[in-house]
This record gives sequence, C-alpha cells and structure tokens, in this order.
Amino acid sequence: RPALPRPAATRVVVVANQKGGVGKTTSTVNVAAALAQLGQRVLVIDLDPQGNASTALGVDHRRGVPSTYDALVDGVPLAEVVSPCPEVASLDVVPATIDLAGAEIELVSVVARENRLRRAIRAHPLVGTAAEAGEERYDYVLVDCPPSLGLLTLNALVAGEEMMIPIQAEYYALEGLGQLLETVEMVKAHLNPELSVSTILVTMYDARTRLAAGVAEEVRSHFGDQVLKTTIPRSVRVSEAPSYAQTVMTYDPGSPGALCYLEAAREIATKGAPR
Ligand code: ADP
Ligand code: MG
Repeated sequence: RPALPRPAATRVVVVANQKGGVGKTTSTVNVAAALAQLGQRVLVIDLDPQGNASTALGVDHRRGVPSTYDALVDGVPLAEVVSPCPEVASLDVVPATIDLAGAEIELVSVVARENRLRRAIRAHPLVGTAAEAGEERYDYVLVDCPPSLGLLTLNALVAGEEMMIPIQAEYYALEGLGQLLETVEMVKAHLNPELSVSTILVTMYDARTRLAAGVAEEVRSHFGDQVLKTTIPRSVRVSEAPSYAQTVMTYDPGSPGALCYLEAAREIATKGAPR
C-alpha cells in the first residue's frame, strides 16, 4: 500500500452525532486503523463511558486503568494514559472506563470545564507541527464522542478543528442533525471559532434498498462536498470485528467494509485539513 503524505500539523478530528447507533465508534476505530495502515501516526481518544472504541481497539478499559477520566477530571497528562493498540502499529488509544460517566457531572464545578480536553491534547508533546512535535508526532487525533450533547461532547467540539459526522443511511437519518449543527454554531461563536464540519460519512449503506440511495442523495444535497464519496456498506464483518477485539481492518482486511474504510481514510487525508 502506498503510504499517504503526512499533514503538516496534527489534525484533531471529532467524531460526533448525538444519535446512538449511527456508526460513530465503528467509523472512529476503522478510519483510525486505516490511516495507521496508510502510514499515519494516530491517537484515538475514547470519550464514551461505554468504552466501545477501547474494546474494538483491543485495549483494556476496566475500572482502574489509566483513562480519559484521569486526563479530563484529574488533569493527568494525556501521554501518561495512552496505550498502544496491540493489533495495529502507529495507533495509540486513550481508553474510556465507566468512571467517565461521572465526569459529565463532576466537571460541572471545575474551572474552564469545557476546555479540559483541548488543553490536554495541546499539552501532549506529540501534538503539533513537525517543528513543535518532531517526527514521532501524531498526524491524527480522533475523538469518539458519546451519544449526547453533554459536557463530554462539548469538550470534544472545543478541542478539535474538524468534525466528522457519521450518518446512518436509514429513514430517520437527518432527524436531530439540526440540533447538532446548532450546537456546532454555538461552539464556533463562543468557544472554538476554528471548528468546522469537514466530513460527513454515510454508514450502514444497503445498496439493495431504494431507501438508502434516497437518504444518501438527501444528505448530499444538504451537505455537498462535505460528504465523502465513499459510503460504508452494511456488513456483518464490520459488526463482528469488535467481539474479536479488532477493527475490520485487521479482522478481515479484504472485506468490502475494510476496503471502504480504507478509501474513506484516503479521502479524508487527501482532502486535507479545512484551512
Ligand atoms: P455509535 O458509536 O454511533 O453508537 P456504533 O459504531 O457503535 O454506533 O454502531 C452501532 C451498531 O451498528 C454496532 O453494533 C455496530 O457493530 C453496527 N455497525 C456499525 N457500522 C456497521 C456496518 N457498516 N455494517 C454493519 N453493522 C454496523
Ligand atoms: Mg459509540
């Protein structure tokens, strides 16, 4: 596989959609693994107390392991809570333990509560330009958000410049997107002017149904160039990979889901950062 050129500075991509089950976690871990396979250095931050991204990347997330909670609530440096993904080289993970469920409430009384993740990421010695962070720097930091618009997701939106919204190709696909985009506008106006919705990814696409085609078309007419040309097909291989503590990128690299995630990663990388 020809490696992709590395970006000039770390790109922080927030994967968010307050709807559950749309493919946030699946897209985060598979795009991350695909980028790593394409020669990029990648960090995944699991921001969902369920820890599904940690599971899929084969990283322990039982209570007590160093985790996102420690970084967000106790200010432990991010570099101290990172674990390598055992299956994929150049891919690191900050796991989420169930403690993170409490962070949503515990953070309410903390100073600069919506800036915690931004500060943690910016303070990581491997985040920044080549001059700042050297050759070992991360090219991508992907943040997997929980299915809500609470303080955890807010922290992610303040931390990133780019946002990827996975949309499931089904009937209620666009429901709730208005609220999500309003939140993005609020964050841009008051907390993080650099934020932009760079990527929309249509997931669980079933090519046999007219419904899926219609939804994809509607998403494209709303969002235009932000929508990746690649859609992710519905595939059993994609959904069974996490039960083997793997992404589909290693579980079944030749499967259609893996090939499409590879193509999606390539699109994200070649489109480049929004500015
Ligand atoms: P979210 O993180 O948005 O809640 P998930 O990524 O966990 O969504 O996906 C929800 C469910 O759909 C999971 O059981 C996952 O395995 C399954 N899934 C996701 N993408 C696909 C796909 N392309 N094909 C089949 N199943 C999928
Ligand atoms: Mg999830």
